[in-house]
Amino acid sequence: MADRVYYYKLVTKHALKTPLTYAACSGELLYKRVVVTVRRQKAVAIVIERCREDDEELIALLRKGIQIKTIEYVLDEHALLSAQDVRLCEWMGRYYAAFPSETYGLFVSFADAWLKEKHKNKEHKNQSDPPQAKPPSTAVLDQNHNQLAIVLNDEQTEVYRSICSELDRFNVFLIKGVTGSGKSYVYLKLALELCKRQKSVLILVPEISLVFQMQTLFLKALPIEQIALFHSKLTPKNRETVLATVRMGRARVIIGTRSALFLPQLTVLSLIIVDEEHENAYKNSSAPRYHTRDVAHQVARFRNIPLIFGSATPSLETYYAATKPTHPLSTHLPPTQPLSQVKTTTTQKLAPNNDNKRHVSSTSRLRYYVLKKRYGKVHLPTIYFNQNKILSGRISVFTKKQINQAKPSSANPAVAPSYPPSAETNLTLFSAQVIKKIEHVLAEKGQVIVYINRRGYSATPLCMNCGYYPSCPNCTVSLTYHKAQQKLRCHYCGYNEVFKKSCLKCKLEQFSYPRYGTEQVVGILRELFASTAIERFDSDELTTAKKLEARLKDFSAGTISILVGTQMLAKGHDFPAVRLMVMLYPERTLLLPDFRSYERVYRELVQASGRAGRSKLQGEVFVETTFANDPLFRLVREGRFDDFYQSELIKRQVNFYPPFSKLVRLVLRGEKLPDVKETALKLKQVVLIYFKASIAARKTQIIGPQPCLIERIKRYFRYHLTIKTVDTKAVIPMLHTIKHAHSSKKKVFIEIDIDPIDLF
Ligand SMILES: [Zn+2]
Ligand SMILES: [Zn+2]
Repeated sequence: MADRVYYYKLVTKHALKTPLTYAACSGELLYKRVVVTVRRQKAVAIVIERCREDDEELIALLRKGIQIKTIEYVLDEHALLSAQDVRLCEWMGRYYAAFPSETYGLFVSFADAWLKEKHKNKEHKNQSDPPQAKPPSTAVLDQNHNQLAIVLNDEQTEVYRSICSELDRFNVFLIKGVTGSGKSYVYLKLALELCKRQKSVLILVPEISLVFQMQTLFLKALPIEQIALFHSKLTPKNRETVLATVRMGRARVIIGTRSALFLPQLTVLSLIIVDEEHENAYKNSSAPRYHTRDVAHQVARFRNIPLIFGSATPSLETYYAATKPTHPLSTHLPPTQPLSQVKTTTTQKLAPNNDNKRHVSSTSRLRYYVLKKRYGKVHLPTIYFNQNKILSGRISVFTKKQINQAKPSSANPAVAPSYPPSAETNLTLFSAQVIKKIEHVLAEKGQVIVYINRRGYSATPLCMNCGYYPSCPNCTVSLTYHKAQQKLRCHYCGYNEVFKKSCLKCKLEQFSYPRYGTEQVVGILRELFASTAIERFDSDELTTAKKLEARLKDFSAGTISILVGTQMLAKGHDFPAVRLMVMLYPERTLLLPDFRSYERVYRELVQASGRAGRSKLQGEVFVETTFANDPLFRLVREGRFDDFYQSELIKRQVNFYPPFSKLVRLVLRGEKLPDVKETALKLKQVVLIYFKASIAARKTQIIGPQPCLIERIKRYFRYHLTIKTVDTKAVIPMLHTIKHAHSSKKKVFIEIDIDPIDLF
């Protein structure tokens, strides 16, 4: 036996593009990590396949007389992956044009730290076998189940029953529930049902803070040892503990952020829930740039298990999939039609309007449920749009594009942007009406949330004398002023410098601070409400999971009266004592050159307002705006959410954007602009080879190459090429050609982004 040689294919980050073939004397290495030498370097690798004797590649290698290197030693006692995990890696490799090292890297760590650690263990030779899995007894579960009376309302019960009857196979469900409708209680009840059947549930949430919130709810019904938490901020040691718990089948409920999708060996997994399905945090920002929603869909399909999407504001793509007629409307570019014409056609509808009935669609593959009532007799907040008369006409909203276009005045003072006087920085930011409202709520010991989607003190500190503003030396963006630290920071590359009060150009001390962020808003509020506890909730303040948890606790306990936060705060949190939500000027986002900008603002409005009045006290939302008559705001005010979706869908169809086309974005970056431009033009030629016919048939549009909205980040010049197509068959072969022709040694790097969430 000892003479027999086995051949394996393995993946390591040291060989990017294809699996490598190695030999070993053991036949038991499949899905374990091993150490091998690649290009004279020791490397951690994962074994993904045992070669069959008739493997053509292997035979070819042996025939050529190439000596196949041997595996040096094995790191894992147990297999780390299952066949299903491998299948998912292969699917992701194809769909996202990702290399094996990128996809397997999601499941296992190739970190070299393992080399040292395992050596140490080998010396001690006292490794004990992990304790065997003991499935929790059903008796305990039943007891717990009885202890907690989860009372669902009629709507929730109907959804629960309907999903419960189809838990044994692949199905996709969308639960669109107004904020506070108690979607999580439906999840909990379903999870308990599956626990009784000795199965487990994976619940994905977009943010780490929501992992803890979901855990708190589940602890009401399940013992702590049956709930595993998984997110990217776990220490390596905790990570190993969670992995072991999952591997041994002890965890019945796994709550995690997107990385939890790649927990290896979730053998008894029988339901996946993607909560807050619309969140951008579900998109991975580095290769492979996967979307959690789509990967979860594949996992559920491969395993033949149900998948639930939950949201108060489903993404347009998911909403369309849930409500579209059986026959898709558009399979090619629509006839050119001016957008203005479409906007006025209010009667035009793409799908049946489900506003007035609870709708369980039977024609679409995605089952659609609507929860219209808030859980526990709580009413939805009233939303007011307050036209700020003082600022109207005076305030200008600057987009990054406008700022990019205006060169820093040190280069050419003549083109410095003409910012408005410091109107934004003074107390008129809050109208008298809103100030009165806040006073009233505070007097009654209620809590207030102020939402502003920008951090720092001022995104563009501006010299009032000469128009100079500090900009990042590495990126084409202005530097944000952080007052407490007296620092200027770039939010794109992390560059920072000390803030100097005198202007670099004219030496005068006349800075104003427009484009205010959370820090400035806190300052203004502290002036207005001197004796009130006012704190910030953004990523500058809450740098660790611990700090974040502490601040959430303080706010829940009532020691903070006003919390000023970014979108971090607007997501899914539950604060019963919040009576008033103030949103500051959401219209800034509308001006971004992004086809999703209306969807973003709509989502911000609905989600953020959902944080108010989550108890029996009626909540109120005040939106300070200079655009009170915008049609979007009218729809939100009148609660016509389905009409919003319909009008957006029409715009998307006219402009050939998702869900009516597939979007692929190729971003090129390099240190020298001419190189980037040249590569971009060559890249377009490659793309044209694949899409020439479908462009002629009006099934594909190519935009660019053109400079990205932010032309330079981290010293790299950026160009992009965007492909909108319904000719999806050509996409994968094209991307694989590009990916494989590309070498990391080249001067220009190409990022492949399938289904991008933004085009900046
Ligand atoms: Zn100046
Ligand atoms: Zn920068």
